[in-house]
Amino acid sequence: MTQRSDPPAPTAKKIRLPRQITVRELGEELGVSGIEIIKELMKRGVMASVNQTVDYEMASAVAQALGWEAETDAMGIAEAAEAAEASVAAVEGEIEVEEDEADLQLRPPVVTVMGHVDHGKTSLLDAIRKTKVTASEVGAITQHIGAYQVEINGHKITFIDTPGHEAFTALRARGASVTDIVVLVVAADDSVMPQTIEAIDHAKAAKVPIIVAINKIDLPAANADKVKQDLVQRSIVIEEFGGDIPAIPVSAKTGEGLDNLLEHILLVAEVAELKANPNRPAEGVIVESEKDTNRGPLATVIVQKGTLRISDIIVAGGSYGKVKAMFDDKGQRVTEAPPSTPVVVMGLNTGPRPGDPFAVVGDERDSREAAEQTAREETEAGRAVTLEAVSGDIAAGRTKDLNVIIKGDTNGSVEAIRQSLERMGEVDVRLNVIHTGVSNVTESDVMLATASRAIIVGFHVKTDTGARLVAERERVDIRHYQIIYELIEDVEKAVKGLMAPVFLEIIDGHAEARAVFRVRGGRIAGCMVTDGIVRRNSLARVLRDGEMVHESRVSSLRRFTEDVREVANGLECGIGVEKFDTFKEGDIIEAFHTEQRG
Ligand code: GDP
Repeated sequence: MTQRSDPPAPTAKKIRLPRQITVRELGEELGVSGIEIIKELMKRGVMASVNQTVDYEMASAVAQALGWEAETDAMGIAEAAEAAEASVAAVEGEIEVEEDEADLQLRPPVVTVMGHVDHGKTSLLDAIRKTKVTASEVGAITQHIGAYQVEINGHKITFIDTPGHEAFTALRARGASVTDIVVLVVAADDSVMPQTIEAIDHAKAAKVPIIVAINKIDLPAANADKVKQDLVQRSIVIEEFGGDIPAIPVSAKTGEGLDNLLEHILLVAEVAELKANPNRPAEGVIVESEKDTNRGPLATVIVQKGTLRISDIIVAGGSYGKVKAMFDDKGQRVTEAPPSTPVVVMGLNTGPRPGDPFAVVGDERDSREAAEQTAREETEAGRAVTLEAVSGDIAAGRTKDLNVIIKGDTNGSVEAIRQSLERMGEVDVRLNVIHTGVSNVTESDVMLATASRAIIVGFHVKTDTGARLVAERERVDIRHYQIIYELIEDVEKAVKGLMAPVFLEIIDGHAEARAVFRVRGGRIAGCMVTDGIVRRNSLARVLRDGEMVHESRVSSLRRFTEDVREVANGLECGIGVEKFDTFKEGDIIEAFHTEQRG
């Protein structure tokens, strides 16, 4: 008897899949969007975001449904060698350790509340916190630390205490996606309003599951049915209408429905199988940061992986330090914080920024180096998201997506532009309109663009001043048009990869060499910054009598004996320039950076 399995269907393409794969990677492997994968997973009762990992069984089932035949990625010699190298590198702390499924344990969901102004976000957060203080905690005064945890039926839920999609997207724009579930608050007497729509788009762009809380049902004017119908118009199809989004009537005022809401949060969390390995060095995100006159910099962190303990040495963005003490949301001292737990950490050298990721590192020297590294990277300009840059990426095959935010003066113009753009997607390029709105370009639009690497097109609208400043800092491309045809034409060129990026040079500042010092490894110039600002690691050239004698980077920057990130106009400093040690008095050091522009 011959032993062989059935031959695959002749049409099935073969694909090798690893033991574990993220939803996004699976989509890339199978040549479809993450959304397609998420839909297939949902059919199988699995709710996952694009960053979540699925196992081989689930991945192969999805692959099969999409016309592939999957096989396990049994390790060949090359892969084994690669894996060995990877684990060495991991031990050396260069890349992240892959988590073993067996080490993962369920963790509480992290929830952000969003919705239109005055629909009751703050009231809801307060009501939940108050009703869920357990008996053992009575007497403990709740502290506003930026996040808190409640317990229901023995399960914990973590709430981010800064409601709103602006804060949510600002965290994402800084690289942190800490939220697992969004609670969308809609007042039953007011229904869907502009910021409700923004919140929906921001949550969708982040691919985070939504639960609707229809609030203020105690009011006589409450009309929950209208809310549900208005939501459908915005593609939020609630369970009652055959969709998968729960809509729970609540009152933050009377407390009605709060338990039901919390139970639904747990349900969605359960389906999403949120897991983390508590037995490893902690990693997570800074959600708030302040300076206390007595206790020094205090940072509220949410642990995402591992367990944070007293005496751990952590790096958070450009800050570092040893955890001297930790406090929970009741102000109580704690000695450890497992995954999804918010705690206030005391012991950092400076206040990190909300959205900065943090991680426990080996020793204080490592932490200092890592912090300085981050600081250096931040002074180097990040990659701008411009239409030209995306066009270049498309031409080079580096991306298949163009994310667009449309702002226009009327509903009609916005819809017309949306429809023309959505029709345009080239075979290989997906054009995703992630948000539209009838108003000027706002700061919230810019943050969404940063977080989602999108460009913003405005038709007959302006950019708010605050938004313009953020766009310059975050290097977001905002394009204004008066003629629809020109807008469409530009985007079309980008989609076809025909828009060549152009680099513009921006001078940041100048310093004049007033003395030359010999140091270990070369010479540095004792300078006075004569205009602008000079940053460490900035691009730089040395000018002598108006001629350029050298071009590289600022390799060291000191004030007195301290290494510093930047020195501003009017201050003295020592500057070292990479691969250059023939400074002369009177040399001008010109610091600059480049930007991609049209
Ligand atoms: P936010 O701007 O979304 O944070 O809204 P707030 O929580 O500040 O609430 C706005 C107003 O609505 C306040 O006056 C609250 O007292 C009121 N409010 C919030 N929730 C309820 C509710 O369930 N019922 C009633 N009647 N009023 C509410």
